[in-house]
Amino acid sequence: MTQTASQTIKVGVIGAGGRMGRMLIEAVHNNANTVLAAAIERSGSSLIGVDAGELIGQHKNQVALSDDLAAELGNIDVLIDFSLPDATEKNVQLCAKHKVAMVIGTTGLSEAQEAMLNAASAQIPVVYAGNYSTGVNVSLKLIEMAAKAFGDSADIEVIESHHKHKVDAPSGTAFMMANAAATARGQDLKQVAVYGREGQTGERKPGSIGIHAIRGGEIIGDHSVMLIADGEMVEIKHHARERMTFAAGAVRAATWVVAQAPGRYDMQDVLGLKG
Ligand code: NAP
Repeated sequence: MTQTASQTIKVGVIGAGGRMGRMLIEAVHNNANTVLAAAIERSGSSLIGVDAGELIGQHKNQVALSDDLAAELGNIDVLIDFSLPDATEKNVQLCAKHKVAMVIGTTGLSEAQEAMLNAASAQIPVVYAGNYSTGVNVSLKLIEMAAKAFGDSADIEVIESHHKHKVDAPSGTAFMMANAAATARGQDLKQVAVYGREGQTGERKPGSIGIHAIRGGEIIGDHSVMLIADGEMVEIKHHARERMTFAAGAVRAATWVVAQAPGRYDMQDVLGLKG
């Protein structure tokens, strides 16, 4: 159902017990336009039945964690999914069937899962972003501008750092940044990306884009894009200081997506940064 800004938006959160899931529950509580209507965890999780408010150390909110998304879809306007690719794949299919809008933050989707997401977005509005922070999305615009201005005269390298628990690399954000640079130079990232370097690599290939991943400790998410020209260098850096920045952005996207026509959108659409 299409919403207007004045209506309270009923939100469901997938992966509710995860690092991002807990932040999302808090962010839904913090947003004056949203209310938590469902919190879903994987079947067999010890958290099933736990009150979502208590899970995040707040008052009971009478929303018990459930493992039955299909049963909850009639009660929600939008589903926010930060879980795992295989779980997200199933959730997208269910939401398309029940015509429920989605905001997806899960990274590491396969090409087949991306294709399935595109097909589903013909039926429901979906925001899918590798990063929901305002700062990263502004950085993408700056990268585009810098890559266009330097053209072939700068070598571009992307470095990302994340916590030791992260299971995929490079980060979705590093891909987005490298892709913004490649697209601005009229390149196909798949043809020019170089992941890490080791051994007898030979000289740097002109036009290539290096992408490197660092893992350790509890780093929430740091990204740096270097444009290295002869005689000068520009570095565009973003540091995420807390996960709440992603969660608050995803909830903002949820309030936006419920008023959109079916289609696939990203955070640049939500923030009005396109064009
Ligand atoms: P996490 O702590 O491992 O959380 C994932 C949660 O999903 C876990 O609670 C997991 O439960 C649950 N889950 C797994 N399968 C499920 C299923 N079938 N149904 C419902 N829940 C299921 O990971 P995280 O750090 O929160 O990150 C989650 C995802 O968000 C990752 O892909 C990460 O890269 C991405 N992320 C995106 C952004 C962004 O801005 N786009 C920002 C941060 C993170 P169990 O632990 O019980 O398996």
